[in-house]
Amino acid sequence: MAADYRPMWTELGMDLKAHDALLDALGKAYQDVFLSQKVRPEGMSYLDFVMSEVHGLRIKELNDARATGRKVVGTFCVFVPEEIVLAADAICVGLCAGAEFGFEEAEKLLPRNTCGLIKSAFGFKLTKVCPYTQSSDMVVGETTCDGKKKAYEIFKDIQPNVYIMEIPQMKNTADRQLFASEYWRFKEAVEKLTGVTITAERLKKAIITVNNKRKALHRLALLRATDPAPISGLDSLLINQVAFYDDPVRFTGAINKICDELEGRIKQNSGVAPKHTPRVLISGCPMSVPNWKLPLVIETSGAVIVGEESCVGERGQRNLVDEKPHTIEGEMEALIDRYFKIDCAVFTPNQDRTDHIISMAKEYKADGVIHYALQFCSPYTVESYLVEKELAKHGIPMLKIETDYSMEDVGQLKTRIEAFIETFRQPAWSH
Ligand code: SF4
Ligand code: SF4
Repeated sequence: MAADYRPMWTELGMDLKAHDALLDALGKAYQDVFLSQKVRPEGMSYLDFVMSEVHGLRIKELNDARATGRKVVGTFCVFVPEEIVLAADAICVGLCAGAEFGFEEAEKLLPRNTCGLIKSAFGFKLTKVCPYTQSSDMVVGETTCDGKKKAYEIFKDIQPNVYIMEIPQMKNTADRQLFASEYWRFKEAVEKLTGVTITAERLKKAIITVNNKRKALHRLALLRATDPAPISGLDSLLINQVAFYDDPVRFTGAINKICDELEGRIKQNSGVAPKHTPRVLISGCPMSVPNWKLPLVIETSGAVIVGEESCVGERGQRNLVDEKPHTIEGEMEALIDRYFKIDCAVFTPNQDRTDHIISMAKEYKADGVIHYALQFCSPYTVESYLVEKELAKHGIPMLKIETDYSMEDVGQLKTRIEAFIETFRQPAWSH
């Protein structure tokens, strides 16, 4: 980071000493995980820049915007519609945290057997190291899994202006009605926060902006179907992670540029790993920055990751909002239609998710699926049984991984993942 952001962090009420420790660890991990990769697309230099300024320039942008009266809305879940936030001239940022930081503090408020995502969000808040949380004028929680739902009741004690959105657990007509009413209620809350009335024109513009971002991510996803894979899973995951922090228009331009470069690579038949490298699809819990452990283990064990069935990935970004409606009612309906399709494991039954994993595995020509569940995450851990059973019917092998943010199990994970990859590695003579 070039500039001195310490006065800004102090003003945000951050603990500079603890924050220095976090940034040191983050910088080192980024160097080891990303900058050490070979044949990275040149366009990834944009992501390197964004990450080097993720607590600096981007936070300055947010706070410069706040100084002009704009608001920042922090979210923990892809069910929160970014379009409504943008339509009120506010800025939407993801707050999920992927590091084992402040867990000791978090465990004073939460049971130890709470998933890492929740503990990390609490840990970041309690140790005052997250400038995004500190910059948020409203934080939106949702009633998805029980852990989150109940944790927000405590989070309200340590974070001002927590808004709770109810998410149903089934997908029947009555559930959709509840979901729709919650979207209208959220629209009103954002209007109240910002003092901006969301008109049809404003919402249309926001829908197009977010659709364009998703189109760029879909374009990237489809390019990864090629063998040799033109980009690593690690870099693709990073792109999907940054999608939650960056300015959407600038981000979309940068990702489309990377896609142009990847198309060039594909024409030249070049990629990040040799043709016939074993191909893996990751499926399961979202991976927030800096949770790069599992993809790193996979891609240093002789495989390439070709897709993420995850909220930080295709589950969160697939499906566009219909841009045809011109009235606010029609646009809200289109928005609700799109978001109600998200197949998070908190829903029951949730056949759509399994169908999607199978279609992704086929489309991206994955040899196998690695199912990732965070320790103590009931929805994804329990659902993995049904996913494995369905994949088996299609002859797709699956490895179940349950882990947390600590690095203690890396050796054990590597052994299991290498053995899994060996089961579908093609012998060199068959190429
Ligand atoms: S996994 Fe479920 S609860 Fe978590 S971000 Fe995705 S939709 Fe939200
Ligand atoms: S990882 Fe699982 S337990 Fe944790 S917040 Fe997400 S759905 Fe809930």
